Amino acid sequence: MDSHSVYNLPSVVPDDNSTTVLQQVERIGFMGAVPANWRDGVSMKAHLELHIEQGPYLVNSNQDIAQNRRGLASVGVITAEPGSVNPVPEEVTMSLDIRHPKDETVEAIVHDIADYLENRRRSLYLAPPFLLDDYTPRYQLLSSIDEAKKRSAAYAHLRQCNLCPRLCNVNRYEETGYCLIGAETVKVSTIAPHFGEEPCLQGHNGSGSVFFSGCNMRCVFCQNHDIAHQRQGFDLTPDDLAGWMMKLQEVGKVHNINFVTPEHVVPQVALAILAARDSGLTVPIVYNTSSFDSLDSLKLMDGLVDIYLPDFKVWSDSTSKRLLKTEAYAEHARASIAEMYRQVGDLCFTGDGIAKKGVLIRHLVMPGKEEEGVQIMNWIADTLGKDVFVNVMEQYRPDAHVGKAKRGAKEDAEKRYAEINRAVSDQEIGIVQKAARDAGLWRLAEAARHGGFNI
Ligand code: SF4
Repeated sequence: MDSHSVYNLPSVVPDDNSTTVLQQVERIGFMGAVPANWRDGVSMKAHLELHIEQGPYLVNSNQDIAQNRRGLASVGVITAEPGSVNPVPEEVTMSLDIRHPKDETVEAIVHDIADYLENRRRSLYLAPPFLLDDYTPRYQLLSSIDEAKKRSAAYAHLRQCNLCPRLCNVNRYEETGYCLIGAETVKVSTIAPHFGEEPCLQGHNGSGSVFFSGCNMRCVFCQNHDIAHQRQGFDLTPDDLAGWMMKLQEVGKVHNINFVTPEHVVPQVALAILAARDSGLTVPIVYNTSSFDSLDSLKLMDGLVDIYLPDFKVWSDSTSKRLLKTEAYAEHARASIAEMYRQVGDLCFTGDGIAKKGVLIRHLVMPGKEEEGVQIMNWIADTLGKDVFVNVMEQYRPDAHVGKAKRGAKEDAEKRYAEINRAVSDQEIGIVQKAARDAGLWRLAEAARHGGFNI
């Protein structure tokens, strides 16, 4: 806005349009003789304009606290400690100049701002305990002895596989177990930068995702049933997989390598990470799991994984049996997630808002199962702590066997799993979200509203 427009602005005093800025400035003797504007032909050494980018956005969304009371507030002095070029400051202070002719309105604005800050205070994921100046992936820190032990353990597991709670006890070089995947190769459906993850994982360039085919579970509502149950995809050795990881890093510029449904191929994944490390891999590893893992397989992953992304699906054994076709799922999930948390702790970020290390727990709210979600939120807060990063997911939709008749049955036969043959309601989602907040959880993932990256 040029100075002439500013001079003509009316008074901000309610119901007083009789004076302008110019009249008031002249009245108090502050007008001076030289126009303070380069557009008026004044020769000056430098001209600096500062624009607060969020200003119009806040006004339009009715969040401008000062303007709501017809006052003005401006930030003047900002100091950062430490205030040097590279470190993320531990403490930032700023002055806030609040103006209004009436003292009580100034006090009301101060009160509004304090209220706002109090309510928003805990939603900053980047609070100092969770900020990293820099990060080196854990696999980079493995000693050569530990690396050799990992390789040896990986081959041993494949020769007698008890890698997940199915405990098949088979030699996967000769036969397959429940997951139907052998030892020499993994079956992969898709490898690509993926933009369907949490903003802190996908960032601007995507999460370098490897979607494995096959699974050690048989969820009746599986939204990837074509690859999980029907095992579509192509076969890769650990060395092939390492090559793809390098392509994701070098060509895709992804923020991490994200192994999706890796529970049944943990030894091959371990060997691939070690091979990729030797080829120059430097991005963090994400282990994206149903939580139906064993402590043995997580021990193999210890030191190789940076971010655990466990999905805690259901709480009750009856739901586990009926919908996951799995016994004692919650018991195994609790033990697995506790071990993941022991290894890497709370989710931590670098200053660019990208997650580098820690646990991010997901829970997909299911129709009619909101009370199980409440139990899961309470367990997370009570057992692991209130700083755990949690994503309460809303995108359930009927899929796989849900709402379909049994194979070979007549068309008008009863549809299966009718109780979950609908979308989840806003009320059900709200109950789980409220339970999370009531339990004290505060680092709750939010989708990027503009469809891109936010923190
Ligand atoms: S990973 Fe596969 S073979 Fe091994 S115990 Fe689990 S289901 Fe069985």
